[in-house]
Amino acid sequence: MIPFLDLKAINAQYRDELIEACTRVIDSGWYIAGNELTQFEQAFASYCGTKHAIGVANGLDALILTLRAWKELGKLKDGDEVIVPSNTYIASILAISANDLVPVLVEPDVATYNLCPKQTEAAITAKTRAILPVHLYGQLADMPTIMAIAQRHNLLVLEDSAQAHGAELNGKKAGNWGDASGFSFYPGKNLGALGDAGAVTTNDDQLAETLRALRNYGSHEKYKNLFQGTNSRLDEIQAAMLSVKLKHLDTEIAHRRKVADAYIQGINNPAVTLPLTLNSSPLTRENHVWHVFVIRCEQREALQKHLLEHGIQTLIHYPIPPHQQQAYKEWNMHSYPVSELIHQQVMSLPMGPTVTDEQVAQVIAAINTFKI
Ligand SMILES: *Cc1c(COP(=O)(O)O)cnc(C)c1O
Repeated sequence: MIPFLDLKAINAQYRDELIEACTRVIDSGWYIAGNELTQFEQAFASYCGTKHAIGVANGLDALILTLRAWKELGKLKDGDEVIVPSNTYIASILAISANDLVPVLVEPDVATYNLCPKQTEAAITAKTRAILPVHLYGQLADMPTIMAIAQRHNLLVLEDSAQAHGAELNGKKAGNWGDASGFSFYPGKNLGALGDAGAVTTNDDQLAETLRALRNYGSHEKYKNLFQGTNSRLDEIQAAMLSVKLKHLDTEIAHRRKVADAYIQGINNPAVTLPLTLNSSPLTRENHVWHVFVIRCEQREALQKHLLEHGIQTLIHYPIPPHQQQAYKEWNMHSYPVSELIHQQVMSLPMGPTVTDEQVAQVIAAINTFKI
């Protein structure tokens, strides 16, 4: 069986380094908010090209706490509208709702699956205060255009970079385009911890300071509380794991790009739509880090079954659009046709830093022999 994602094999590559880092933390006697966190935050900020990285407990908290910090700083208030793609993973939207802000769903561009700038600008009202673009599947959203729109309308931009560590356009990485960015280090993400973890990146000193307090009960100084904060910290042990994994991230991304290139060159079944990158002509390799390799097929169920019969595991990112979830009953009657089409047709092929040439060849052959 070719697994969709082989996490065990991915971490086994660095087994010795991970054990060494783990031992270092155990022996330090210091398990929360110590040197490991500081070192990882510095390394990750430097990787993204930002002034700050603030470690938090997970990717959802990274988004929730950034919006919360903007509320504390008087930049957002209850009822303000935040534009977000209608086809994102639901966490992007939950972060908005959790802050008593109003998510305004905007349809994606069907070719890139990312937020459509034209529709974004059309959705701006007197209440709009922020845009939350998601770099879906590992590909940067059209950030030059989105930032220009934000500047024209004086809006904050919070990137959801949970799937796009290291993606780059015009020399600028995911996490360094907006006013702030949320990252997830969930084990299956391109930069994954061995448990839950997340971070916010920003170049804004005041925001960084507020976030450092909010993640720690609202406290800057021990036993002094500026805000009614929360407990959302990135453990020393996970920071140490992430410092090991960050060193290998670019090599892993290069491997993912090779796998993606092979899929794009090899798959020629007319029933399958291949992914199109932002600047597809000429293709820029840098703006996509291939968190997942997503194809589209009208006969998705049959194709998925066919691949499974050939020993190939695939997943669907995602089967139900947020507006059709029970959690958002108020939107169930709304129609987002592009998003719905995407959710009906997408399928993710095996992808990752340990996928072999033989496995890629098997996947390509199986897809090309699929008949409607
Ligand atoms: C994974 C993910 C999140 C949430 O990250 P967690 O660490 O699981 O909380 C948010 N947004 C997107 C787009 C994601 O893929």
